Amino acid sequence: MKRSVIYPGSFDPLTNGHINIIKRASSTFDEVIVSVAINSNKSSLMTVDQRVKAIKKVFAKNKKVKVDKFEGLLVQYAKSKKVNTILRGMRTVQDFEYEMQMATSNNKLNSKIETVFMVADAKFSHISSSLIKDIIKLGGNAKEFVPEPVEKELKKILKKG
Ligand code: ADP
Repeated sequence: MKRSVIYPGSFDPLTNGHINIIKRASSTFDEVIVSVAINSNKSSLMTVDQRVKAIKKVFAKNKKVKVDKFEGLLVQYAKSKKVNTILRGMRTVQDFEYEMQMATSNNKLNSKIETVFMVADAKFSHISSSLIKDIIKLGGNAKEFVPEPVEKELKKILKKG
């Protein structure tokens, strides 16, 4: 049986930390579905489609990585994909509290759903999308934290203002 996992998140923008998790997951699972959450409540830097496009570009050569988007309850989306495993990254104890709540709630909503965690690589554990957003908004260079296609996209977005 194919072992698939869904890696959901905002990915606004995709960072080198996310990439590290996706690469590691693709050597553990047969298929990694990176799925961008559509959340109109969160103020975003990139549109959902820009995020999907950038992730697709980064993983164009990795056949195990699929990119998608979803709206609404994650457990419903997982069911529609016939996947019972959710992947999340864990950086700090702050992540732990939120992630534990989410994982428990999702399992209560659908007992078939299991959430697995990958601990952030120490090289990337300081990176977050919100940090990148702050750097970009303040005119800084995020090159060190994001892949090239994302950096290019961010520059375009900045030019448009
Ligand atoms: P969300 O808004 O759903 O938290 P994010 O895009 O911020 O979406 O994060 C998606 C997942 O990736 C989360 O599980 C988060 O903890 C994890 N993550 C974010 N940044 C890193 C990083 N630098 N290293 C490892 N995991 C990370």
